[in-house]
Amino acid sequence: MAPASPTGLGGRLSIDLGALQRNWRALDKVSTGALTGAVVKADAYGTGLVAACRALYAAGARFFFAATPDEAVTVRATLPDAHVFVLDGLFPGAARLYVGERLMPVINSLPMLEEWLEACLSRNEALPAAFHFDTGMNRLGFRLNEASIVKRLIEQIGYQPQMIMSHLACADQPSHEKNRTQLALFSALLQQFPNIPASLANSAGLMTGREKHFQMVRPGIALYGGRAVAGRRNPMSQVVTLEMPILQMREARTGETVGYGASQTLTRDSRLAVVGIGYADGFLRSLSASNARLGGRVAIGGRIVPVVGRVSMDMVVVDVTDLADQPPRPGQMVEILGRTLGVDDQADAAGTIGYEMLTNLRLARATRSYFGAEGLGG
Ligand SMILES: *Cc1c(COP(=O)(O)O)cnc(C)c1O
Repeated sequence: MAPASPTGLGGRLSIDLGALQRNWRALDKVSTGALTGAVVKADAYGTGLVAACRALYAAGARFFFAATPDEAVTVRATLPDAHVFVLDGLFPGAARLYVGERLMPVINSLPMLEEWLEACLSRNEALPAAFHFDTGMNRLGFRLNEASIVKRLIEQIGYQPQMIMSHLACADQPSHEKNRTQLALFSALLQQFPNIPASLANSAGLMTGREKHFQMVRPGIALYGGRAVAGRRNPMSQVVTLEMPILQMREARTGETVGYGASQTLTRDSRLAVVGIGYADGFLRSLSASNARLGGRVAIGGRIVPVVGRVSMDMVVVDVTDLADQPPRPGQMVEILGRTLGVDDQADAAGTIGYEMLTNLRLARATRSYFGAEGLGG
């Protein structure tokens, strides 16, 4: 990937691949008895697909879940002997591609199943695939009442899927009743497909009870340091650090306003730093502040300071009046995500989830660097 800041004057996005590896190993320990996969969709949650795949493989991961065929092809090119699932399923007419690239579609519907079984028949080969049944998301997957048709179609030709899976809607809220309902529906479904490995848990499912582990777990967000389970301390290591430079310092007086819409009036004489990150970099506009509402925060030298006024396309203004003992200066880097402010601190302030903060990293006009990986060789 071309550096987003060829001059080196833009921001810095640092990805700690050692933390990614520690996170995978920690989750693998929790899921003893089940295989631990790795969900790498959306550019490995914004951290970089190729680098993340290499690091995860070196840590021991062998089962990778991409969303799209494009992502899956990249995983395959990076890891010749990994098992690669395509969560979005089999795209119409794409069976040849999947077979050629040794991708396993997650079969989500009867039309997908028919097309895959035809490919098996025409090649006289039981091409591996996972079957996904919907147990309460109403997103992808067979309806449960299609199980008997699925069974009949595969029995006709003596086909067996590699895995039966479903996906939890509320795993981040462990006491939500829907978890029990989905688990019960999934367990009942498995009676109809005996001796086929099963998979139900995302990160939160994996972290909240062995009964959801079955034979394979599919963590995503927790690998990348995000909070999987609401209202609990997040035990994962932070993977991402994003720093962006201060463009200008300025003094402003009580009663003056800051930014578009004049949404915030200063209530004291203030020292402001203009930071070179805006909504075009994934610093969401919902991190804007006003007199009525606290917005996002950033950290300078390990100290947290608030956003003032609206987030612009390329800039945000922060109040550094309280840093008078160590006045920030133009060019100095400001921590947007990192040790002081985690992904979820920023996400909470923006009214969103860590997943969205992370996948927005792709937008940041910053130079990426990777460090910390073990066992990559070369
Ligand atoms: C994204 C996804 C996961 C991973 O979920 P996390 O909450 O990020 O752990 C697992 N399974 C499926 C089907 C997914 O779409």
